[in-house]
Amino acid sequence: MAENLTFTMIKPTAFKNNHTGAILKMINDAGFVIKAMKAMRLSEVQAGAFYEIHKGKPFYETLVQFMSSGPIVAVVLEKENAVEDYRTLIGATNPENAAEGTIRKLYATSYQQNAVHGSDSDDNANLEADFFFSKTERV
Ligand code: ADP
Ligand code: MG
Repeated sequence: MAENLTFTMIKPTAFKNNHTGAILKMINDAGFVIKAMKAMRLSEVQAGAFYEIHKGKPFYETLVQFMSSGPIVAVVLEKENAVEDYRTLIGATNPENAAEGTIRKLYATSYQQNAVHGSDSDDNANLEADFFFSKTERV
């Protein structure tokens, strides 16, 4: 069960540029099922906690500022091989290296403002889904 989940966020710039619908369509067309979803704005404390693993890296402070700068959409997704398949769908972290047709290639505006988050492991997918959603918010 658990290995079939991943977690994504539509980041503030992609949300502000009204790419939410197009990104969700790509996600659905790729076979992912939405198991929980909400639009919200992260506080600096929440964004800092979510990206705690990157604390101390040169991009951490600006990442936290950016991720708390406007609304995001948080989404739990289900699909066989969800984590790996979603990383393939979104493309490389730096959009300059992202493959053609990937979400980041299409909708990123910079390395930092790269349209979407995607979990990097089954364990982190579950931790990240639990960070955002209670049991009653998940279908
Ligand atoms: P990913 O989101 O692909 O898992 P990381 O976990 O390495 O990538 O980094 C988290 C986020 O931090 C990235 O999505 C991006 O927004 C930002 N980031 C990572 N590395 C850099 C960098 N060198 N310069 C600017 N922003 C970065
Ligand atoms: Mg990561």
